[in-house]
Amino acid sequence: MSLSDAFERLKLTEHRLEPGHVWLVGAGPGDLRCLTLDALSALDQADALVHDALVQPDVIAAAANAEKFFVGKRGGRLSIPQGEINELLVTLAKAGRKVVRLKGGHPTVFARGAEEAAALVEHGIPYRVVPGLTSAFGGLASAGIPVTMRGVNGAVILATGFAAVSDDRPDWAALARTGQPIIIYMGLTHLAATVAQLRLGGLGDETPAAVVENATLPAERTVVATLGTLADAVKRENIVSPALIVIGGIVPLRAQLRGDE
Ligand code: SAH
Repeated sequence: MSLSDAFERLKLTEHRLEPGHVWLVGAGPGDLRCLTLDALSALDQADALVHDALVQPDVIAAAANAEKFFVGKRGGRLSIPQGEINELLVTLAKAGRKVVRLKGGHPTVFARGAEEAAALVEHGIPYRVVPGLTSAFGGLASAGIPVTMRGVNGAVILATGFAAVSDDRPDWAALARTGQPIIIYMGLTHLAATVAQLRLGGLGDETPAAVVENATLPAERTVVATLGTLADAVKRENIVSPALIVIGGIVPLRAQLRGDE
């Protein structure tokens, strides 16, 4: 099937975004090519687009007929509180708009998509989740690090590094004791504290570690380190958000799979 055949087929079989409905759509890690056909169709149908800062301009531009509402972070803080984002979605839906709520990666991976879904249910607004490629998987592929490899890991942990003080905070020492690789979203702010906790769980300083910044985008950078040197490497290389931290035995496979050794 050619690309144009695929688009034709999509047109015939696509889900209809009805007026008064909200779709929570994942945009993938950044590169336009990581959009799914379902997400592209959603953007094409939307007349109101509510989006975050992580979503790239060329992805936003795919919603050519939609009024755009930016609700992302400015200077590390939400420009409008989550409650108001929920209200905006409800208001737009009640006004009969075809609403796409677009988020980076997958809409319910560390993205408050489930909270928004709950608010929509509360107001009786029909919604649908359109999955996206989460940045851990898109980002590791782009950086050349496999997610699993026989003989290396039988599980992988996706964790948020940001919930440092909230109830969601992972028990890092317990995660460390599993011996399985850990991929940390939003890990830069509390990196030193996270590393200290992982050490308490028994991970040694020599544990392989990497950080992938701006994965899938032209500015992508990967820095390989160890648990002991990671925080310094992040500072030295001036790594900024968005970035993923990867810790564990899958990291050294990068060199092997790239043919570096
Ligand atoms: N729902 C998103 C995650 C939102 S939390 C998803 O499924 O990917 C935001 C975090 O995602 C960032 O702090 C960063 O850790 C990660 N992230 C998103 N896009 C990224 C990218 N292009 N490169 C590296 N990390 C990214």
